[in-house]
Amino acid sequence: MNSAAPMAKEIVLIGGGHAHVHVLVNLAMRPLPGMRVTLIARDLATPYSGMLPGVIAGLYRTEQAHIDLERLAAVTGTRLIHAQANGLDRANKLVLLAGLPPVAYDLVSIDVGIEPSLSPIEGAAEHAIAVKPIGSFLHKIDALIAQACEPDGPRRIVAIGGGAGGVELLLSLRTRLLTDARVAGRDAGEFTFTLVTDGDILATHNACVRAAFRRVFAERGMILRENVRVRAVTSDTVVLESGETIAADAVLVTTDAAAPDWFRGTGLELDGKGFLAVGPTLQSVNDADVFAAGDCAALVASPREKAGVYAVRAGPPLAAGLHRRARGLQPDEWHPQARHLALISTGERYAIASRGIFKAEGAWLWTVKDWIDRRWMRMYQDTDALMRRMARR
Ligand SMILES: Cc1cc2nc3c(=O)[nH]c(=O)nc-3n(C[C@H](O)[C@H](O)[C@H](O)COP(=O)(O)OP(=O)(O)OC[C@H]3O[C@@H](n4cnc5c(N)ncnc54)[C@H](O)[C@@H]3O)c2cc1C
Repeated sequence: MNSAAPMAKEIVLIGGGHAHVHVLVNLAMRPLPGMRVTLIARDLATPYSGMLPGVIAGLYRTEQAHIDLERLAAVTGTRLIHAQANGLDRANKLVLLAGLPPVAYDLVSIDVGIEPSLSPIEGAAEHAIAVKPIGSFLHKIDALIAQACEPDGPRRIVAIGGGAGGVELLLSLRTRLLTDARVAGRDAGEFTFTLVTDGDILATHNACVRAAFRRVFAERGMILRENVRVRAVTSDTVVLESGETIAADAVLVTTDAAAPDWFRGTGLELDGKGFLAVGPTLQSVNDADVFAAGDCAALVASPREKAGVYAVRAGPPLAAGLHRRARGLQPDEWHPQARHLALISTGERYAIASRGIFKAEGAWLWTVKDWIDRRWMRMYQDTDALMRRMARR
């Protein structure tokens, strides 16, 4: 432990995202005298992205895929403020909160994820279900499944967006919905599942992975509409740019992410889409006391796709950078790998692996994914083990 008093005493973390849960633990393991860590969290449970499709499919209970931030804060000695940040007053070094007094910082880190981007599709905000925030999305999915079990409930389910999130989501939803509907005495044959995307599905993955998922969709009788653009969503249809309509009782939107609006008022440099522009040390390019990581940040030197895996990997360099900056040292640079192994589930205990031109599939890959995901979650859920680690430090 470093006994010198830090130059920065108040470290404020906004958002309990994938990177910040690591920062909480890491900073608690090597405290600096007089340093206080505060977490400002809008939601008190962090959903772990890797296990979300499994929650939707009914393979995990909701609590298995969530980190309890109250417990983690208590164990790590972090001050927790349950509030939504809505601005930064950088001149006075304050985080502005909705409905609460501002919080002073010496260093601030932002890991707040993305907002749903529904505005490009007319009627989507009114008639469709957005995947973010995930907490309310899971409630809406539960409500949709309950309605689908009713005699006159929704039968025609359409997802818009062909990235890994959309593909896994629709496959997982189908598994759970058909299971519950059968139990409720409904005929599985009444349901249709359609995925609409304006390019190829899984456009950032290789052709073998795309072919495997097209096969999975075909085997399950699911409809795949690639290279068609959605113009609007109404109460019972999805309207394509061509004017063609697809009948829909429920529509899920998993298309592009948008940056939180409040970033615009901070004076921090943003990328073309409004995300916080950061350098390789995860510091804002125009304010060295502001760090950002995860989906809300844009690494200007090495842009990466917005995925939980990068948010998770940003945790250690972010914690190290904050610790160094607090001691008046220059944070080290982080250059994330350009490629990562993606294990994409098919909505059951089966997964397809993708990395560059590599593709493999099988039930064993789901077992590997399950092991990796559970191991990561244990670090933040098993607070008894964490307390033992902290006692030994
Ligand atoms: C259905 C679905 C499946 C996915 N599956 C995968 C997958 O298998 N693998 C993968 O790598 N990625 C996956 N993703 C993507 C993944 O969820 C994101 O990339 C990941 O969550 C980003 O983590 P983050 O830490 O940036 O933000 P988040 O996990 O979104 O965390 C942000 C946190 O900040 C809080 N917050 C937000 N605004 C404020 C505010 N103003 N003030 C205070 N707190 C705030 C929120 O409550 C939230 O807890 C999936 C996404 C979806 C929707």
